[in-house]
Amino acid sequence: MSLNIWHPFTQHGLGEPIREIARAEGAALYLADGIRIIDAISSWWVQTHGHCHPKIVAAIQDQSARLDQMIFAGWTHEPARKLAEGLADFLPGSLDHIFFSDSGSTAVEVALKMALGYWHNLGQPRQKILVMEHSYHGDTIGAMSVGARGVFNRAYAPLLFDVGTIPFPEAGTEQDMLDQLEVFCSDSTDPPAALIVEPLILGAGGMKIYSPAILAQMAAICRVHDVLFIADEVMTGWGRTGTIFACQQAGVEPDILCTAKGLTGGVIPLAVTAASDAIYQAHFSDDRAEMFFHSSSFTANPIACAAANANLAIWRDEPVQDRIDAIIASHRAFSDQLKRKSNISGLRQCGTILALEIDDGAGDYMSDLGPMLLGFFRDRNILIRPLGNTIYIMPPYCIDPADMETIYAAIEMAIDHFTTS
Ligand code: PLP
Repeated sequence: MSLNIWHPFTQHGLGEPIREIARAEGAALYLADGIRIIDAISSWWVQTHGHCHPKIVAAIQDQSARLDQMIFAGWTHEPARKLAEGLADFLPGSLDHIFFSDSGSTAVEVALKMALGYWHNLGQPRQKILVMEHSYHGDTIGAMSVGARGVFNRAYAPLLFDVGTIPFPEAGTEQDMLDQLEVFCSDSTDPPAALIVEPLILGAGGMKIYSPAILAQMAAICRVHDVLFIADEVMTGWGRTGTIFACQQAGVEPDILCTAKGLTGGVIPLAVTAASDAIYQAHFSDDRAEMFFHSSSFTANPIACAAANANLAIWRDEPVQDRIDAIIASHRAFSDQLKRKSNISGLRQCGTILALEIDDGAGDYMSDLGPMLLGFFRDRNILIRPLGNTIYIMPPYCIDPADMETIYAAIEMAIDHFTTS
């Protein structure tokens, strides 16, 4: 007898087929019988260079034979030290300190704790966190609290803390959002500790895009009012939006930045929360009560750090930016083609991410179209997991033009299939 596996974000009661993957390579996953599935969403946005990149695989093999896991409180190791050196060339310049954890959600929890710890240790405790409507920051309690409320977290509402919410800057309403941010930030009776945002594109909230200019203005308002600016680059980081980090397109230097997913090329879990010197100094003291109280058993796992070092080497040594630029150009050409279709809306692109809505009249995450589209693409051996009626793609950078064409053709077929029948 075997125990039943309970899968994430899966309603087992609907009897969704769950296929078993035997191996992966580049932009593809393979079933045991050799059937090839194109991974059009980088396996939930994690894979950047492609599955089983030989340099990352080799780094993991080498590191696991030398030093597998060790306590990181009061001890250190070479892979972490090398990663700290290497990240200095990739992260925005103002972020001098890195704190390790294991996932995007924990990177966000760490960021929130750093922000509150900062104000607490300065002797000016602040409670309020500002967030953007439709945001997603993870599924742990703090991360859910700063994310959008809805069907995903309704049952857990008693555990979630209150936040101040600014609207998403839909086209034409940007000034309204900035004004509301200004009001929150200038509230001297309850000054916010921080604003946390997904820069340039909100992922799970529906691949909603806003401009670098708006991001820059949000950061400027926070700066003027001394509200910490937290950039959650868990999805946007490592090239997804066209630059290594999305903040770079807006010239924004956040006080705290969260990165995970693509940090190891998406091969093995690791997260970093990077912080400015001011945040670190607020915790630096001869008083043990002011240290940063956070850890997990696997903090800075050496094997994961070695994978991240291999990821940095790939960015340095391979034409990663050229691959990204090729995807951007390819998406543009496909978008021009799609503009002729009348039964879609919201066609948009942010770097390597392309999204659109199929007009089904319902239009949210719980739209019945979501599972139908998932099945439609699964039947054609393409991994695309729509967000309700929103179809998006976010391929690994190694994908070749033939696979891109197969994906585009399947999307066109899906549009025709679900809007004419
Ligand atoms: N933040 C953002 C912007 C994300 O997109 C995600 C996951 O998709 C997370 C945080 C949570 O990351 P993880 O699933 O690794 O906990």
